[in-house]
Amino acid sequence: MLISNRVRQLNPYVPGEQPKDRVYIKLNANENPYPPSPVVQKAVIDFVQKNPEKLGLYPDPDSLELHAAIADMLNKSGGVLCRARVEGGEVHPSDQDKIPFTVTPEMIYTGNGSDEVLSFVFYAFFDSSKRFVMPQFTYSFYPVYAGFYNIPMDQVPLKEDWSLDVDEMLSRAEKNQGGIIFANPNAPTSLGLTRDQVRQMIKKASSDEIFIVDEAYVDFGGESCIPLLAEFKNLVIVRTFSKSLCGAGQRLGYIVANPELVNIVTTVKNSVNHFPLDAVAQVSGKAACGDVAYYAETSRKVAQVRDDFYNFLCDKGFYVLKSQTNFLFAKHPSISGDELYQKVKAQGLLIRHFNTPGIEDFVRITVGTAEQMSGLKKIFEEILRG
Ligand SMILES: *Cc1c(COP(=O)(O)O)cnc(C)c1O
Repeated sequence: MLISNRVRQLNPYVPGEQPKDRVYIKLNANENPYPPSPVVQKAVIDFVQKNPEKLGLYPDPDSLELHAAIADMLNKSGGVLCRARVEGGEVHPSDQDKIPFTVTPEMIYTGNGSDEVLSFVFYAFFDSSKRFVMPQFTYSFYPVYAGFYNIPMDQVPLKEDWSLDVDEMLSRAEKNQGGIIFANPNAPTSLGLTRDQVRQMIKKASSDEIFIVDEAYVDFGGESCIPLLAEFKNLVIVRTFSKSLCGAGQRLGYIVANPELVNIVTTVKNSVNHFPLDAVAQVSGKAACGDVAYYAETSRKVAQVRDDFYNFLCDKGFYVLKSQTNFLFAKHPSISGDELYQKVKAQGLLIRHFNTPGIEDFVRITVGTAEQMSGLKKIFEEILRG
């Protein structure tokens, strides 16, 4: 056989479809409907025009300027953009989000999208001899990494109301001693735990149990666990530019953690790919972090449009979870998730349907612009009329 046994056992991630046959309005991959800040666009153009020779040289392997810019953005926003206050060009965290210490560049690690970051985090902190704990329904890339690295998993069912079963996750983590990961807010359910709920959880766990909290969606209204880094050394927070920073195409993800843990992930990176971020990505990421006001505004707009669409879905008889993210997870008593997805697709819009048993009745709808969502409202109304 030409291929390895390892590869024959792989079970790759299936992303939201990106069809080429026709131009669809994409409300299926939780991308941001707004473009990156004009500052980002200008920084990229300037960089390529003024320093073309830099495209021929290796970039900074450790993206130090970008790390400083990310730390600065977190200090200014408190880690939740939609609540950040903008006053006379200055940005401040809301009272709810104030971080009780200064985030430093040494607390940041960056990689080629948080998917790559997560992969290195799995390699760094989970072991093939112990089961790690995760919710039964969560980001579907976690089981893929578990398969890739041969790490056994322990999947904990959600509660009746689709929230995380904190007590059960804790008791299994205690038994397995293999670490714990969840997205907060969670995907595809859109529900979050409060910071205090996470605090209580980590407090009860043994201090050599690692907690990985994936905050891909927190900027749209969740509570960030960054403030907890002052209390706990066993916490790693994973974040991305793909959702709230309108940057899915730039492939930028990062962790915020204590420097010792950052160094461990850096060691993994330097054993696989010394340069995960190209020079242009570093420039664009740094520029994005410099325009917190823009992203605070776009995050707020997404949250407003989301709440409006939530009300619409309730009015139309959907069962909808109260989202803290840029998507809505909903089902209707009189139409299956698959049928709804197919009928919306026929109208030129993509939403996401999972064939996974247990959530197959639901669709996941990414929040687009107000205009896109009013188009979707009309389509839903027509479909429900029959
Ligand atoms: C979108 C998403 C990611 C991946 O983000 P990238 O930075 O684009 O790789 C990670 N975790 C969760 C929960 C996500 O929804």
